[in-house]
Amino acid sequence: MKLRTALLLLVFWLPLGALAESFDYRLSPYRVADDSYVFIGKTEDFTPANGGNIVNTAFIVTRDGVVVIDTGSTRRYGEQMRQAIAKVTPKPIIKVFNTHHHPDHFLGNQAFKDVPILALPATIAGEQAEGDAFANNVYRMAGDWALGTEPFPANQAVQPGHMTVGGHDLEIIGWGGHTAADMVIFDHTTGVLFAADLVFYNRAATTPHAVLANWFASLDRIQKIPFKVMVPGHGLPVMDNRAIDQTRNYLHWLDRTLRDAARNGAEMTEVLARPIPAEFSEIALVASEYSRSIAHLYRSYEAETLAPASH
Ligand SMILES: [Zn+2]
Repeated sequence: MKLRTALLLLVFWLPLGALAESFDYRLSPYRVADDSYVFIGKTEDFTPANGGNIVNTAFIVTRDGVVVIDTGSTRRYGEQMRQAIAKVTPKPIIKVFNTHHHPDHFLGNQAFKDVPILALPATIAGEQAEGDAFANNVYRMAGDWALGTEPFPANQAVQPGHMTVGGHDLEIIGWGGHTAADMVIFDHTTGVLFAADLVFYNRAATTPHAVLANWFASLDRIQKIPFKVMVPGHGLPVMDNRAIDQTRNYLHWLDRTLRDAARNGAEMTEVLARPIPAEFSEIALVASEYSRSIAHLYRSYEAETLAPASH
């Protein structure tokens, strides 16, 4: 290699290499209400550039200690989350919640092994059953950010109901539709609603475990909660119903499109080619999630249209 080429390579490679090796998610808490903070993830898919920082995680600083809501995509994310929380408060972390079993929400659990990790029973089952596959997948998509990440499923089943923690009246709600069990946490003390992945904002909803009819029912119930601030699972926190409406409108369109296509006997490739309405063009990843959703859901719509004929 000529010296000049070598120097050029150095110039272009060093900064990238240095950045990658630091593996710093640069987590910075965004305060949404008294005692309440969110680490806002990018509205992107897993990539080696973002390392899986694509999800909102949160924490509440109560009188008795810190409550953590979701732990991110990797062991490293969980560790850095803990360091970032320690810069806000010296209080110990006393409880961790996993809202559902998707990898970006619980694969940081390893960093919280010394704390009770609570989840709905079906979420724990999902983490146990799919954790290894999820961890492999995150490593494949995010690369070395995920090095050393192993599934550490939640270790305490929680039932829906009220729970007072350090003066905060937390309502644990167990609904579903995005997965078999989606936990929503409403902090009655601050008015913050942690909606998890039942609500996406300016990031297309993901559907690998979705049952849309249940999801619509959950959205209707969420809308009745008198929240002051809503933290969606992905996308910026909001103070009104816009994120609920956007999630519902997009999923309604998806539902209608797949149902109509199945009734017309359309092939999957034809459904894939359908245009996405302009009203959704601002939503990040809408084209790729639409394709994935067809792969996840279209067969069941086809089966549904065939079912009556067999009776
Ligand atoms: Zn999810």
